[in-house]
Amino acid sequence: PLYLADPKRYERMPYKRCGKSGLRLPRLSLGQWQNFGAVDSLANARQMMHRAFDLGINHFDLANNYGPNYGSAESTFGQVMSEGLNRYRDELIISSKAGYDMWPGPYGIGGSRKYLVASCDQSLKRCGVEYFDIFYSHCFDPETPLEETMGALDYIVRSGRALYAGISSYTPEQTREAAAILKSLGTPLLIHQPRYNLFDRWIEDGLTDVLDDEGVGAIVFSPLAQGMLTNKYLGGVPANSRAARGDQIYLKESDITQERVEKIRALNAIAEKRGQSLAQMALAWVLHNKTVTSAIIGASRVEQIEDSVAALDALEFSDQEIAAIDALVK
Ligand code: NDP
Repeated sequence: PLYLADPKRYERMPYKRCGKSGLRLPRLSLGQWQNFGAVDSLANARQMMHRAFDLGINHFDLANNYGPNYGSAESTFGQVMSEGLNRYRDELIISSKAGYDMWPGPYGIGGSRKYLVASCDQSLKRCGVEYFDIFYSHCFDPETPLEETMGALDYIVRSGRALYAGISSYTPEQTREAAAILKSLGTPLLIHQPRYNLFDRWIEDGLTDVLDDEGVGAIVFSPLAQGMLTNKYLGGVPANSRAARGDQIYLKESDITQERVEKIRALNAIAEKRGQSLAQMALAWVLHNKTVTSAIIGASRVEQIEDSVAALDALEFSDQEIAAIDALVK
């Protein structure tokens, strides 16, 4: 049956201006790094995308190599779009990226203009869209002049392949330089996509100052530390979790150390006092940082998206709660 979006989809989700741009983003966005590949269930992927949009999550975050296999998350996205979601194209913010390895040879990785433009064209085809809303340099490439990488983003925007330019995981210094180059080219840097969660606060050490100075927004990835900041690992590693899946190169069972579990338990106790799940508190906490425009959540099932959206019901923190959290994870 044809997908029809919930008419109430804009009633609950707050939208925040991205830096000093004119673009507002949902406080929660949906990332498709995991669970949207060719190896995953298309029906489940479709359900998660539909439910997200119905809840006001109108931003979907992709990259060329999300899968597995590389490219297949974008193909899944394109499939679901073609089945009816594409009637809402003008309500959606769709992003993709290039930077990490994608195809063999010298033009399938890095920050060259050759790679970024070719990869953007491939991603557009897989997603079945005419343009991306945001296109990112996925990572800084020390072997390519930053002028070339930023020049490629400027070209991607000017040629109509994307509306806005972004960078991901650049250091504060690299970010300042990238913003200056893009400004000189006339395509302002919209957004930076760094990792940020209760266990990884590196952006507080210089990056957010640069973003505030430059009027650039932040959309943070792995806000739940890939699932560690939920109640999932409190009593060991459950079978259907990311850490238990053998093919994962990122979160591993060995990451769930005793020390970690103790911190998770203590954070969970603070969340309980707030009347929230740990996942909800972890999301509210990243959104509490004034530089953060949106948090990109991952999910393996619809219920997780629903649980995470309920974080929006309690975004405030008392000074005592912040102090208790800092005592654990600063
Ligand atoms: P999260 O930290 O949000 O982790 C998501 C995982 O946490 C889910 O797959 C699920 O794990 C678990 N989870 C989610 N919600 C709940 C819940 N409510 N209760 C219990 N468990 C829950 O984010 P990701 O690490 O997945 O990253 C999110 C997105 O960020 C990516 O999809 C991608 O778009 C982007 N990203 C960008 C990067 C970059 O370099 N720019 C790098 C990494 C990510 P389980 O599968 O175990 O159920």
